[in-house]
Amino acid sequence: IMTTSTSDISRKKSAELFEKAKAYFPGGVNSPVRAFKSVYGTPLFIERGDKAHLWDADGNEFIDYCCSWGPLILGHNNEEIREAVQAQLGKGLSFGAPTALENQLAELILNNNKKIEKIRFVSSGTEAVMSAIRLARGYTKRDKIVKFEGCYHGHSDSLLVKAGSGLVTFGETSSAGVPQAFADETIVIALNDKKALEQVFADFPGQIAAVIIEGVPANNGLLIQDKDYIHFLRDITKTNGSLLIFDEVITGFRLGFEGASKYYDIQPDILTYGKIIGGGMPVGAYGASHEIMGSISPDGAVYQAGTLSGNPVAMAAGIAALSILARPGFYEGLEKTTQAFVEELRAYIAEKNYELNISTIGSIFWFAFSSNANIQRADEIDPTSMEKYKVMHRELLNRGIYFGPSGYEVGFISAAHTEEDLKTTLTAIKAALDLVFQ
Ligand code: PLP
Repeated sequence: IMTTSTSDISRKKSAELFEKAKAYFPGGVNSPVRAFKSVYGTPLFIERGDKAHLWDADGNEFIDYCCSWGPLILGHNNEEIREAVQAQLGKGLSFGAPTALENQLAELILNNNKKIEKIRFVSSGTEAVMSAIRLARGYTKRDKIVKFEGCYHGHSDSLLVKAGSGLVTFGETSSAGVPQAFADETIVIALNDKKALEQVFADFPGQIAAVIIEGVPANNGLLIQDKDYIHFLRDITKTNGSLLIFDEVITGFRLGFEGASKYYDIQPDILTYGKIIGGGMPVGAYGASHEIMGSISPDGAVYQAGTLSGNPVAMAAGIAALSILARPGFYEGLEKTTQAFVEELRAYIAEKNYELNISTIGSIFWFAFSSNANIQRADEIDPTSMEKYKVMHRELLNRGIYFGPSGYEVGFISAAHTEEDLKTTLTAIKAALDLVFQ
């Protein structure tokens, strides 16, 4: 294993493209994290992906653990998805009218996911969550929502809110342009804290429409919650007539068809999905019981619509993807692969006594540069530890391994990662860690 730093990969073409992009887009990107602000170097412009591999504009090849932030559970350029999309292309890209494809994807989902009885397709996770919040407010006729520090739910106004000081407070906006009046309707509390939940319901009786939580918080590290806590959350929302929204945009169809709801063995009131259900195309969805979904227009008074909702190409990709995921043993196999991968890293870390822990669930994993093996709250993450991730990230790129450009991001293993890919990656990670901790 080499412990000297490798030379940096060429980023000449990426750098040229980024210079141009800066003239066209704010920060040169169409989504902020892509700008590589938290890691070294200029962002890589990706040209193509195949299976678990990516190629950038300079011809560098990487094994990909970002997987487009989660959707690509089958890797890049999956043959069945590609053929389904190609078959649809000749028939039309969008009609703005119902298609049989929407029924087919809905059947695949509803037959295999008993946590919801009815679903509505939208075009992104943000839209799914934004609509779920409106539905909860419309259904309960209450305005306030509760979210958790360390959970990300997309960029709608009600959710770009961070905790103020104190156990239970109104939120503060976490983006310019969000009116304080909106933030006043969102209460932000810490994860894994039963007292904070009790206090929030004591302080705002009869006012809370919903509590929203990520199925497993995976946008700010991987903050796996105790089963006991999630059941407490389920009970206290029910007792107070508030809805529980499980945001399964990452965990849905990643941990299994019933996602984190199955893992925790609970029945949330509204569930939100995205990423994997579109097979790599832009899709989101929200679902609930017949009764709650009855509040959605045109059946009910909560308005929600979309020109490209249920887009036929996206539906075709989603049907192909979920048909593969529904095959027996798919999730068990992926989880076993991930466990073996993480176990080997853990053994190496223990042998070397490095201050690093790896949390994992299903095919998701996260490098926690901390001696705390069970980080469950955002404030337990030491921001200075991100410097270590930064070094590791550069070393991994130099060794042909692509992780998300921030230490708060999780890694994903796809069914396209081969044994050889994983072996190469383990060798690279060990070498990179030796450098981080030297
Ligand atoms: N909810 C969760 C849990 C997410 O992880 C994300 C995106 O990463 C979103 C919502 C927003 O989804 P999108 O980026 O598709 O708008």
